[in-house]
Amino acid sequence: WAAIRELDDRRRALPFGTDGAVVKLDAFAQQRHPRVGFRGMAADGQAEAARKLSPRWACAFKFPPDRAETRVQEITIQVGRTGVLTPVAELEPVLLAGTTVRRATLHNADEIARKDVRPGDTVLVEKAGEIIPAVVAVVPGRRAPGAAPYVFPRECPVCRTVAVRPEGEVAWRCPNPDCPEQVRRRIEHFASKAGVDIDGLGEEIVGQLLERGVIRRLPDLFRLRLEDLLPLRKSGEVWAANLIAGIGARREVELWRVINGLGIPQVGAAAAKELARTFRSLEALLDAPFTELCRVEGFGEKTAQAVRAWCEQPVNRALVTDLLGAGLAPRAPAAVAGGLVGKTFVLTGTLPTLAREEAAALIEASGGRVSGSVSRKTHYVVAGEEAGSKLTKARDLGIPVLDEAGLRALLAGG
Ligand SMILES: [Zn+2]
Repeated sequence: WAAIRELDDRRRALPFGTDGAVVKLDAFAQQRHPRVGFRGMAADGQAEAARKLSPRWACAFKFPPDRAETRVQEITIQVGRTGVLTPVAELEPVLLAGTTVRRATLHNADEIARKDVRPGDTVLVEKAGEIIPAVVAVVPGRRAPGAAPYVFPRECPVCRTVAVRPEGEVAWRCPNPDCPEQVRRRIEHFASKAGVDIDGLGEEIVGQLLERGVIRRLPDLFRLRLEDLLPLRKSGEVWAANLIAGIGARREVELWRVINGLGIPQVGAAAAKELARTFRSLEALLDAPFTELCRVEGFGEKTAQAVRAWCEQPVNRALVTDLLGAGLAPRAPAAVAGGLVGKTFVLTGTLPTLAREEAAALIEASGGRVSGSVSRKTHYVVAGEEAGSKLTKARDLGIPVLDEAGLRALLAGG
């Protein structure tokens, strides 16, 4: 315990965030002791099962998150790019895990009511996972007399549209797609590192361009001319030229970046990459049928539904058309030779001549992908000697089963 406590002190000086420690028995003889060993058993003796065993000779210890007390000056509402209204506690600055914290999230209206946080209260803030600070609780007995319970606003603080809370959701939303704050955040997200990654187009510049009416909507970015930017800054010729060049350089950007930048609900970078790989153009994505979306690697019905719903919205279709019309030319992922693009394989058992890695490499070289488990999304199961439960499952689901010769024929046939 002394060692863990020492680590807790020392970790604050480390150049990276930490949230725990792992304690291990370091003598192999002790690790192999029958009363230590591993928890769980190999289901069918396969290699991947062995990796899932949890050792009893190591255990994880989580450090308690960093907490501090401070006062809530006021509660403000932040409008997200999807319209979600998030309450934020504006705090008296306080030092927490090495940084000064001025704001902490209050999550949503229910959370404020549950914790009964009121402006002026002294609260406990915490950096959970050391990333976004949150208000944990009100410190009892420190409330100013006469402090009224917080009333969540019934309208968007920016565009004054009446807020709505869709059935079954915790968040209140501004339902106005033209809400200036939503537009600003959507453009910021599009231009950010996670999206199209436009050099020199940070939050501040996006805000300026919108406030000065230089752009009104996302596609306007790709129509900017030098003379539009010059009035924004005194002797800003170099800045303006660089920004135009920065935007121009990202016209032919990877398709997944555009998809991620569009901010489709449920779609992050990984899903955007799968969509780009599967559909290869924005036009194809817009018209992708629900059943095709369900087959995308890693997609469940919920994600497929969210993508389909987004693609059906006329305003989103118009946005895509407009972006393409303004000169955005997304680049599909490099085409892979071979006809296995979009096909998912599962390998099981021992093949006569090919090692599992070799078979996987051949499949991937032809554009297919290899997955570890059989599901309805599996297109083929390649089975060799001593194939186990995966083969049974494939038969149950009616998935075609190939032997090595069958795989080679498929690869050759493309
Ligand atoms: Zn609004």
